[in-house]
Amino acid sequence: MMEKYDVIVIGAGPGGMTAALYASRANLSVLMIDRGIYGGQMNNTAEIENYPGFKSILGPDLAKKMYEGSINFGAKYAYGTVQSIENNGKGKIVHTDENDYETSSIIIGTGSQYRKLGVEGEDEYGGKGVSYCAVCDGAFFKNKEVVVIGGGDSAISEALYLAGITSKVTVIHRRDQLRAQKVLQDRAFANGKINFIWNTNVTEIVGDNMKVTGVKTLNNQTNEESSVDANGVFVYVGNNPMTEAFSDLDITDDKGWIKTNERMETSVPGVFAIGDVRQKELRQVTTAVGDGGIAGQNAFEYISSL
Ligand code: NAP
Repeated sequence: MMEKYDVIVIGAGPGGMTAALYASRANLSVLMIDRGIYGGQMNNTAEIENYPGFKSILGPDLAKKMYEGSINFGAKYAYGTVQSIENNGKGKIVHTDENDYETSSIIIGTGSQYRKLGVEGEDEYGGKGVSYCAVCDGAFFKNKEVVVIGGGDSAISEALYLAGITSKVTVIHRRDQLRAQKVLQDRAFANGKINFIWNTNVTEIVGDNMKVTGVKTLNNQTNEESSVDANGVFVYVGNNPMTEAFSDLDITDDKGWIKTNERMETSVPGVFAIGDVRQKELRQVTTAVGDGGIAGQNAFEYISSL
């Protein structure tokens, strides 16, 4: 017989764990499903300095604290990759690669996944110097030189993290202005180990067949071609939503982000979406947590109304 829960939360990032806390505290039976360890992108984040209550906290440490809170009122956790959702009106079935679960309400918090740069050498040197996670791989580049590609919050905060480990960080950005928060920009500009190459695209990641040795670049203002030597290349050029499993529900915009109202309701009754996977402006741990609380509470109200 299929396991049955009042609420199934898909994705155990900060939003999902908060939704599970709220729904289970409202006395609903709750299952969180995640394909890996709880925490989502917090696990790839060195220091979080903009979560209230902590001057600074390591991403994995905050994830652990949130997880402990999320299971405190009885929510359960299962590993699995959700393949699809069957929506039979008031009842819904969640199909994972391991099991099928029956539920009344679903909260989607699957987040987003790093985007690849899409240049020659990127796949070839994946794991051989090309990385998307400074926290995971930065230590391999102790006292070595690395390149960071991108100009957003991720690129600059991880460049700062890498500056503490490596001998030199070169940020290559396609425009002449960063998108990152000003506080991060100021810190990066003041850091003697970080230098910037502006208006420049990386056209190829090169190596000696065994490992990365640098990147080829093109200045998009002057068309000048050049190269930068580096032992590691960290790519932070944005994220794509993880919504493939929900394509049948027709709840996304044309880029794949899930559309919700302020109650975190999608267009399908009983299906909510929260956190980075949602069409929204500010993707932060704090905003994911806020979304999670709203969805957890509204899932309770939805179930009460059935
Ligand atoms: P993002 O904000 O989308 O920034 C992506 C960066 O990559 C932009 O600078 C963009 O350039 C550049 N880019 C995109 N495609 C490119 C390409 N093909 N070639 C070269 N450069 C390319 O992504 P993110 O930095 O990963 O951040 C994602 C979300 O998480 C954001 O909402 C961010 O605020 C949040 N976040 C917050 C924190 C924090 O609060 N500490 C930390 C990390 C992430 P353009 O600027 O020219 O578009």
